[in-house]
Amino acid sequence: MTNKNKAFGWAAKDSSGVLSPFHFTRRANGDDDITLKIFYCGICHADLQILRDKFGFGLYPVVPGHEIVGIVTQVGRKVEKFKIGDKVGVGCMVGSCRACENCRQDLESYCPKLESTYTMFDDGTGKKNYGGYSDIIVVNEHFALRFPENLPLDAAAPLLCAGIAIYSPIKYYGLDKSGMHLGVVGLGGLGHVAVRFAKAFGMKVTVISTSPDKEEEAIEGLGADLFLVSKNLDQMKVMVSTMDGIIDTSSAPHPIGPLIDLLKPQGKLVMVGAPQKTVELPLFSLLMGRKLVGGSTIGGMKETQEMIDFAGKHNIVADIELISMDHVNTAMDRLVRGDVRYRFVIDIANNLHA
Ligand code: NAP
Ligand code: ZN
Ligand code: ZN
Repeated sequence: MTNKNKAFGWAAKDSSGVLSPFHFTRRANGDDDITLKIFYCGICHADLQILRDKFGFGLYPVVPGHEIVGIVTQVGRKVEKFKIGDKVGVGCMVGSCRACENCRQDLESYCPKLESTYTMFDDGTGKKNYGGYSDIIVVNEHFALRFPENLPLDAAAPLLCAGIAIYSPIKYYGLDKSGMHLGVVGLGGLGHVAVRFAKAFGMKVTVISTSPDKEEEAIEGLGADLFLVSKNLDQMKVMVSTMDGIIDTSSAPHPIGPLIDLLKPQGKLVMVGAPQKTVELPLFSLLMGRKLVGGSTIGGMKETQEMIDFAGKHNIVADIELISMDHVNTAMDRLVRGDVRYRFVIDIANNLHA
């Protein structure tokens, strides 16, 4: 093994979540590894929640970032999928046991030994991963994704978390059928790509939002068919029992009873947003319509590649605001206020200087 790789990024050192320059090392490039020079990294709402310790993990320093794209600069001798110069993505995970029931079914995201791209949970090993708000990353080739030539690296970076976080549940819960009616709750990073994927599947899409000012952009810009303001009870009432499924991406606590009412009998409400509060489940509404409330995180590596290839075929990317690393703390404050259309992406290669 050669020496470790020197790396440079921005880290939060405590629960203030304020990011500042941070020098660290990455492992040396092993036989099955590739090293990427990182070009862009998206800012996911989960980064914000973890930086500010909203889930109580408290594992500082944190270098966040799991929507990473870059160019391969080094390949190990056993690497088969990639060569130097390839465009590659790294999403939310960089390791799993590769042997358990979940891993054998290409569901690495549900492996009990899942290794997140940046450490979120204390797994007792003391091992720590640092994410993509940094100049390079070393990753086992199994956890890297090929990028279609036609997708721009910056606007496609958010697919690596936001894209798969909605694609996987839409597929798993059978909500990808042409002609079905899908509700999308929360028009943010995840929500706006959910609209684009659902339209590509040929679905009728209704956005359910707390922000009336997003109506025009939802319909004109993203191609949604209908727009409901969740607090407008008259609008909500008209749509009762009309939806086959709902993908709920809201990052804030909210009652789910009114959403269950929007479902047709046997409809499915899928929670993908992660507010830090328990929700009440109105059982009677579920029983009467044999409805289902489920959850989902990202998908496995095979499905993530399938999602990116599908996005390439249908030209699906995120609407982004490209920022320099110097603006990352301001971006986090703006994200709290929902002041972004719809994903911040950090321009790493041009802006990160050690
Ligand atoms: P985001 O860009 O900040 O969007 C969240 C949306 O939630 C907002 O645009 C807003 O949409 C809605 N919202 C409603 N009430 C809100 C409030 N009080 N404050 C802020 N937003 C409010 O976040 P994101 O990156 O899409 O992530 C959404 C959630 O999914 C987060 O909780 C994140 O941790 C989670 N997540 C889950 C997965 C997974 O695999 N399950 C993956 C990534 C992220 P409207 O204005 O339209 O109401
Ligand atoms: Zn994410
Ligand atoms: Zn496993």
